[in-house]
Amino acid sequence: MSKVMSSESWQADKRHWMHPWTHFDSFKDEGSLMLTRAKGARLWDEQGTSYFDAVGGLWCTNIGLGREEMAETIAEQVREMAYANPFVDMSNVPAAQLAKKLAELAPGDVNRVFYSCGGSTAIDTAFRLVHFYQNCRGKPAKKHILARKGGYHGSTYAAMSITGKSGDKIPEFDYIQDTIHHLSCPNPYRAPAGMDEQQFCDFLVDEFKQKVAELGADKIGAFFAEPILGSGGVIVPPEGYNCRIWELCQENDILFVADEVVTAFGRVGHWFASEDLFGVQPDIITCAKGLTSGYLPLGATLFSDRIYDVIATGDADRYFASGYTYSGHPVACAAALKNIEIIERENLLSRVVEVGAYFEQRLQTLRDLPLVGDVRGKRFMMCVENVADRNTKQLLPDELNIGKWISDRAEQNGLIVRPIVHLNVMSPPLTMSRKDVDFVVDKLGAAIEHTY
Ligand code: PLP
Repeated sequence: MSKVMSSESWQADKRHWMHPWTHFDSFKDEGSLMLTRAKGARLWDEQGTSYFDAVGGLWCTNIGLGREEMAETIAEQVREMAYANPFVDMSNVPAAQLAKKLAELAPGDVNRVFYSCGGSTAIDTAFRLVHFYQNCRGKPAKKHILARKGGYHGSTYAAMSITGKSGDKIPEFDYIQDTIHHLSCPNPYRAPAGMDEQQFCDFLVDEFKQKVAELGADKIGAFFAEPILGSGGVIVPPEGYNCRIWELCQENDILFVADEVVTAFGRVGHWFASEDLFGVQPDIITCAKGLTSGYLPLGATLFSDRIYDVIATGDADRYFASGYTYSGHPVACAAALKNIEIIERENLLSRVVEVGAYFEQRLQTLRDLPLVGDVRGKRFMMCVENVADRNTKQLLPDELNIGKWISDRAEQNGLIVRPIVHLNVMSPPLTMSRKDVDFVVDKLGAAIEHTY
């Protein structure tokens, strides 16, 4: 392992940087990778050791890092105009052009864009937009939100309240509870015993119907869902689920909010997974991450003309009282435009479809290992679930932190995969080749094999 625990940067890190989502123990004496350089999917640490980053940063380095063209675009925009006030009567060229481009790429009549700083703020905006819209149309009681256990939607107060990953919620905070309801996680691998995928889908749809009946459709404002759950375990819902729930939302006048912070911009082979993969036309779509491939922070809440027409007509004094200093940041928007141009020019979506099929197929071979209970996901969004017993699907004790054991071993062999308790998660740059796939699967397989 190439973790040197004495460098000046390492000491500064341990002493001063409180990292997000990181146990206090790891601020004491554990080594962390002190990264200094990146090119494509390859990262280098302070000692010059290189790694293949199969996590793609945090599901975000879609076009790969270290691209000259991105550096030039960003530098040029900084020279031209590094910042522009987004409020009232001011605009800027990259933000306006990006909004137009996003409207072209987004499904249905999703033609309106509200910029923020990342995925959490995009979700926060969506949450406020739901309230605002329901108020503006004279339905102030429609404020309840449906979401799912296992869903992750971000770290702001509203986003974390909508999040349904119980392990991410801690007793030290009081989340919004009364108006947010978490339905079952649509994980086919963990379906109730004896149910096949179709029965499980029916079960989830029935549960949704029951919740609507219990609360009353006149009280429910929106359903928030990732088309494929990400950090909740890379869960592709059962066939037909997304579309059937969307139909129920339409029937019951409930807004469908697709959290595509991970799934958009090519991760599963499409600009947006909702429509292309699942046949759903959401009312609101949140995105971030792959929007700039992590070159700069940017979030966007895209929403339909139908919503816009309601909120923008009527009371002349009304406005959407929300926004950020960095909404529509010209440099971030210029980076996003260039990022989209690169995805288009290099046909990265088709590449993900093609290489993704190979990635799925190669990863499935890990099922032969005794520790591997499930291999799941779609294209460039995959994970391996490790279990104590493959028949009963019983997990190893959480304290063992098996995912971390495995990822530590993989890291020693030059591969970075993300540990999430029992899982090892992968979301590589869209440029990953078949040769890279072989490297990832071989190294991950060896790490799993040698762990137990
Ligand atoms: N939504 C989803 C599906 C995510 O996976 C994440 C982050 O991983 C977020 C929202 C929050 O995004 P951010 O960390 O940029 O605030």
